[in-house]
Amino acid sequence: MKVTVATKILEANERIALENRRIFGKAGVYVINLMSGPGAGKTSLLEKTLSLNTGLRIGVIEGDIAGSCDAERIEKYGAPVVQINTGGACHLDANMICEVLHDLPLQELDLLIIENVGNLVCPAEFKVGEDIKIMLLSIAEGHDKPLKYPLMFQESSVLILNKIDLAPYIDVDINKIKKDALSLNPNLKIFEVSCKTGEGLSAWIDWLREAALKR
Ligand code: MG
Ligand code: ZN
Repeated sequence: MKVTVATKILEANERIALENRRIFGKAGVYVINLMSGPGAGKTSLLEKTLSLNTGLRIGVIEGDIAGSCDAERIEKYGAPVVQINTGGACHLDANMICEVLHDLPLQELDLLIIENVGNLVCPAEFKVGEDIKIMLLSIAEGHDKPLKYPLMFQESSVLILNKIDLAPYIDVDINKIKKDALSLNPNLKIFEVSCKTGEGLSAWIDWLREAALKR
C-alpha cells in the first residue's frame, strides 16, 4: 500500500489537533479558527469584537509568516494574546498551536480566537483543535471566490462578508457570493458587516456570545 507523505502529515496533524481540543474542552474554552485571504479584515474584526461589550473573556492567537503588528493591535484591548510566526509556512497547524498553549490563561477564558495566516487555500486543510472554522471574505476580493476556493467555504460554519460599505464603489455581486457559498455549504451562516462603519456587527456579536457560552 502506498501512503503519500501529504497524507501522513495530515494524519499527524489530526492527532495533535484532537489533543489540543481535549485541552480546550477541559479548560471550558470555545475555540474559533478564523481564516481569510490577506487584508480581508481578520484583525480589524477582532479589534471591533474586543471593543464591543460581549461579556466574554476572549484570548487571541495571531498567526503570521513574520512580524508582530497584529498582536500589538490586539494587546491594546487588554486581551491575552500570543503571536506565532510561522517562518514561511502559509498556514497554522496543530503543533504550532500546541506549542503556545502554555502562554495563555486558558482556564480564565470563555473564547479563544485563532487568527490564521492570510491565505484562502491551505488553512482550511489543517485542523488546529478548534470548535469551528469561520471564514471572512472582503467583498472587494470579488464574487468569484467561493467557486475558486471551495474548500474554505465548505469547511467553515460561518461566513462573514466584510467591507460592505464598499459595495457602491466596486463591481461586486454580493448575492452571487452568498448563492455560490450556500451551494457549496447549505448550512453556512452568513453575516454582512463593515468593520469600518460598524454595520452588522451587533448580529455577529450576538451570535458569538451565544456560541461561546454554549460550550
Ligand atoms: Mg491580521
Ligand atoms: Zn499553507
